[in-house]
Amino acid sequence: MTTISVVFDFDGSLATSFVGGMMFNGYISESKLYIARERFQSATTSLRLYQEEVFDSVSQTPAEMSQRAADGAKIRPLAHELCEQVRKTGGSAAVASAGLDFYIKPVLGRANLDQLNIHSGIVVSDPTCPPPFRYDYPSAGDACEGDWVTCKCKVINDLRNEVAYSEVIFIGDGTGADECAAANAADKIFARGRLLTYCKENKIPVTEFGDDFGPVLSYVENKTSANGAQ
Ligand SMILES: [Zn+2]
Repeated sequence: MTTISVVFDFDGSLATSFVGGMMFNGYISESKLYIARERFQSATTSLRLYQEEVFDSVSQTPAEMSQRAADGAKIRPLAHELCEQVRKTGGSAAVASAGLDFYIKPVLGRANLDQLNIHSGIVVSDPTCPPPFRYDYPSAGDACEGDWVTCKCKVINDLRNEVAYSEVIFIGDGTGADECAAANAADKIFARGRLLTYCKENKIPVTEFGDDFGPVLSYVENKTSANGAQ
């Protein structure tokens, strides 16, 4: 029986919105955000450094932002059902995000998805202290080409290597690390937004998902029943 695991991008994929943006928008001066964004868009800074620059200028502590994330962010419908179906195949589910743990964890916690392994940047300084924060990047592997906080390719490859004859699904919507994971690591890709466009333009097989994870759930269910019939 094929074991199927799933790796979710977080912002805009497992979560329905850009939760990272919800954390800093309105909590950093427009001019500081503009300067940081210019430096990132002109490739002066990496995504990792851009994110640090932005969060080191916010007016809240990680604890305050965690609370806002838990209250304001939503998980895409059918995430539970999908994780449950994946577990039935013997696989596991993980989050691979270029974002930071203090806003990912509380959203998963509120949605009873604590069992997901989270690979992201981590703020290691006291959550009740204002910025600048101290950061750690335990999931920054070297399988990816860019400095994208988390090497999603490594997360996918590690999951595949855990079990023989396993397949790893990647679910994403972004650029950078999402594109790298789709092009170089994932066995099956579900995408929306910019990742969907990228896959189509580069002739990478992809299935679109929308308001819920219905297409992914159907795919795993079909695979599971096909396995059972063998
Ligand atoms: Zn990669």
